Amino acid sequence: MLDDFGDKLIHWYERNKRNLPWRDCADPYKIWLSEIILQQTRVEQGMDYYLKFIRRFPDIFSLAKASQQEIYKMWQGLGYYNRANNLMAAAQTIVDDFGGSFPQQPRELMKIKGIGPYTAAAVASIAFDVAVPVVDGNVFRVLARIFGIATPIQTGRGKKEFETLAATLLQNHPPGTFNQAMMEFGALFCQPKNPDCQQCIFLDTCQAAKNGTVEQFPVKQPKAAVRNRFFYYLFIEFAQNGGPRAFVLKKRNQKDIWRNLYDFPLVEYGKRKQPEEILHMPEFNDLIGQTTFTVSSVSREYCHQLTHQKIHAVFIHLIVDKKPAGFAENALILVDEKKIDNYPVPRLLDRYLQDQENLI
Ligand code: SF4
Repeated sequence: MLDDFGDKLIHWYERNKRNLPWRDCADPYKIWLSEIILQQTRVEQGMDYYLKFIRRFPDIFSLAKASQQEIYKMWQGLGYYNRANNLMAAAQTIVDDFGGSFPQQPRELMKIKGIGPYTAAAVASIAFDVAVPVVDGNVFRVLARIFGIATPIQTGRGKKEFETLAATLLQNHPPGTFNQAMMEFGALFCQPKNPDCQQCIFLDTCQAAKNGTVEQFPVKQPKAAVRNRFFYYLFIEFAQNGGPRAFVLKKRNQKDIWRNLYDFPLVEYGKRKQPEEILHMPEFNDLIGQTTFTVSSVSREYCHQLTHQKIHAVFIHLIVDKKPAGFAENALILVDEKKIDNYPVPRLLDRYLQDQENLI
């Protein structure tokens, strides 16, 4: 089983692999960029982002010079903005400390911001042929099923067990090809739901298929509880005398989700409220004070799922004729309607703004 595992897998890969722009090249910049973009993102969704980044930043030097605002704008929609921060920090480190050349060994790569064991192994094996296994979600699933491994994959013990097995299987094979084959087999064939086991090259040895327990693998620990947050956004339109319409934005500086992105003034609660109630809350008063306003519309509830939080957002569109009282204290900024698109905003706001497109 162990002897011919890699040969069978690579044979399958050569006949079935997708044609992806970062594949079949040994450029560590392209491999690293694709790995960072594809963390938590499907290939179909990540592809456009990858192509956009490569066109705008064809090498590590151009990326290292980019501003945070530009990177955030290009990253908009991918979420997990920490990855975008790490991307910038890593590019600067590689240029400043390594003269623009990626280190080759996983140990060295992991000293760079945002590069964990998985990305380090992918860059080292695919770009530099270092014999180190990549163990991502696809690899966990394939190995857990074929070898019937029930150790939870998030535990230290589980990670070690899977890594050791993958390293054994990798021996005597080209590391980059083997690793990509493992990931591709999981992504395309041994999928989480209803894999076509009857057509599988590993059917005769797969423990999970033999025992009818395919969907029980890989074994995961129960997830942490999700926190619900209720956001009441004030989408404040400032009708300037005869001038273009302007809207109020706020940069998120607090230690919280979406740090350094822009959103609207916000009143947050731990439970759902009627939007009319918001207009009588002290927090609303702190923002608006005695400013005269009219309510133009109240949106439906938009939901946005994050790893451990679910955001429920309602947008209250207000029209005011002078700057709200709390403008300065709350560090609000007034943005001309045509320039809103220059500001990086969370995906949730982008969805609302797109729905408003005809009104703005
Ligand atoms: S037999 Fe089914 S579960 Fe086993 S590796 Fe193949 S596709 Fe995956």
